[in-house]
Amino acid sequence: MTDYKLLEDKYLANIYAKRPVLIVKGRGARVWDADGREYIDCIGGHGVCIVGHCHPRVVEAIGKQSERLMTCSGILYNDVRGELGEKLCSITPEGLDKVFLSNSGTEAVECAIKLARKHTGKKEIIAMMKGFHGRTMGALSATWKREFRRPFEPLVPGFKIVKLDMDEIRRTVTQDTAAILFEPVQGESGVYPPPQGIYSELREFCDSRGILLIADEVQTGFGRTGKMFACEHLDVVPDVMCLAKGLGGGFPIGATVARAEVMDSFSQGEHGSTFGGNPLACAAAIATLNVIVDENLPGRAARLGEHLLGEFHDLAEKYNIVREERGLGLMLALEFRFPHREIILDACEKGLLTLSSGLNIMRFLPPLIISREELDTTVSILDEVCAQNEK
Ligand SMILES: *Cc1c(COP(=O)(O)O)cnc(C)c1O
Repeated sequence: MTDYKLLEDKYLANIYAKRPVLIVKGRGARVWDADGREYIDCIGGHGVCIVGHCHPRVVEAIGKQSERLMTCSGILYNDVRGELGEKLCSITPEGLDKVFLSNSGTEAVECAIKLARKHTGKKEIIAMMKGFHGRTMGALSATWKREFRRPFEPLVPGFKIVKLDMDEIRRTVTQDTAAILFEPVQGESGVYPPPQGIYSELREFCDSRGILLIADEVQTGFGRTGKMFACEHLDVVPDVMCLAKGLGGGFPIGATVARAEVMDSFSQGEHGSTFGGNPLACAAAIATLNVIVDENLPGRAARLGEHLLGEFHDLAEKYNIVREERGLGLMLALEFRFPHREIILDACEKGLLTLSSGLNIMRFLPPLIISREELDTTVSILDEVCAQNEK
């Protein structure tokens, strides 16, 4: 039998800390390996799998669209592309009325950075400590972690990374500041929910200085945190919102949604993407958004997330190795007091897939359709591996 793990190791870029499992099938909140072993999937394609693996409505939409039209240049009009544009503008906060479609989170951020410079005629972008915005040179320039940035310098000039603190932001802003970029809940660096209060002050400050406020909701968007967008928890409406991950129900798609006046500062030819607005991706995204709305997945994430956070709190009380639990909706973390590689592998062995941030933070981005029973199993597996690893 072909050893596909070996093939990947041999032929694919060695850039991921792999778990030793070969996944070949998924359904809902579960995936299966090549030997037929079942896992509860709290990796969820890195937060992509909001409606679960292979949701029947998404599968159907992709199938039907693939028989009708698979590609259509942006210089022609297309039915599903228009429909997705309207749908996205109808669910994003009021005032965000125009969309640029791309294929990933980092592209959604690149578009926002270019928009900020074009719209304001200024150059500087201020981003936050613990923020993550992607791996392309622009998005990387706004990303906090030095290990991600350092080997690739020089990056794009004009980026400053500051503490999420009004005094510090005021000190850093200059006449040449175009935009302030933030993640409402900082995901990649370990799930840090937002501090209270700062965002309404930040909004007022940006307005008074003609600075654009850009929310990177690539990971937090589409119900993940218990509201359709995490900005709704903060009572703030940004000028530009970056979206991707959950949007396509597993199909790659990114979107930058902005105030019309901001998006209209691009002239024809100043931005674009060959694959952006692809009809298959649009059809997948329309079906996904319909599922999210029809099944009230944001409400479900709020309910289940609160329950799971309570269970995590009990684990933190019970086991000395767990430092703390935190999160919002179904975007959660358990922080350990020491490197947790063994714990992650033990959980994997017992049929639970989890993400990690850094060396000691375990991260959970399960599908929002995950069942109560699957969450109970998740907790009991965590309980076992904590007991096993508690010295
Ligand atoms: C994942 C992520 C990105 C990058 O998305 P890609 O699709 O991997 O390019 C950007 N911003 C945030 C907040 C993310 O979580």
